[in-house]
Amino acid sequence: MDGTTTAQTAANLVLLGPPGAGKGTQARKLEEGFGLIQLSTGDLLRAAVAAGTEAGKAAKAVMERGDLVSDDIVIAILRDRLGEPDCANGVIFDGFPRTAAQAEALDALMAEAGSSITSAISLEVDDAAMVDRISGRFTCAGCGEGYHDSFKQPAKDGVCDNCGSSEFNRRADDNAETVAQRLKAYHAQTAPLIAYYGERGVLKGVDAMAQIDTVSESLTAIVQEALA
Ligand code: ADP
Ligand code: ADP
Ligand code: ZN
Repeated sequence: MDGTTTAQTAANLVLLGPPGAGKGTQARKLEEGFGLIQLSTGDLLRAAVAAGTEAGKAAKAVMERGDLVSDDIVIAILRDRLGEPDCANGVIFDGFPRTAAQAEALDALMAEAGSSITSAISLEVDDAAMVDRISGRFTCAGCGEGYHDSFKQPAKDGVCDNCGSSEFNRRADDNAETVAQRLKAYHAQTAPLIAYYGERGVLKGVDAMAQIDTVSESLTAIVQEALA
């Protein structure tokens, strides 16, 4: 990149926000709307746990208590996925980075690939509302579409709008005790990244207490601007 081009061909976005802020919900919408790839370290770690890999074995208990998995494990998993060819068209980082060390590692990985983070979007929410969001969350087992008992029910009870499956999952760590620990970890280790990206001039804040579609409109406008 020589810095003289006017149109970016790829947007690489970081979605920042506490558990329940809507990162996964919004990442899926941006994936559909802009052909970007959602890269969720939470999903990658849950897949590693399910597959019983060494990384998964090390991560399982940490995730169950709501603490952060070690930077080494998370960065290694992320690096592998980011190296796959589909990521070249632009990535939405969902739940990564979560520590300063991860943010620095991400900058280095992007630079190696001749790329950079176009925008870091902070989904701004009230902690108090996050327990309700997380306690009511469930996901389609067929396609991964996210739902909520009160805020986003399937149009037909018990049937996924997207793929028609009638099987749904609830995460083991989506319980009130673990949520409290996850929010604590967010404030101690992840919230400082808002300043990290602010200093780099790529930070955008969005009111994520608004309805899902309203938040989505704000994010779409940010991505359109990044690609203009
Ligand atoms: P995160 O990935 O940040 O942990 P999710 O996208 O999984 O969050 O959202 C958490 C839960 O809250 C899900 O059940 C989702 O359907 C619901 N949700 C997401 N965004 C909103 C919103 N703006 N208003 C109400 N509920 C929401
Ligand atoms: P949420 O956004 O609802 O907190 P995630 O699916 O992003 O959920 O993460 C679930 C759990 O996986 C976290 O509580 C943490 O234990 C682990 N995890 C996910 N991403 C990271 C990361 N980047 N660094 C460390 N741990 C992570
Ligand atoms: Zn589905």
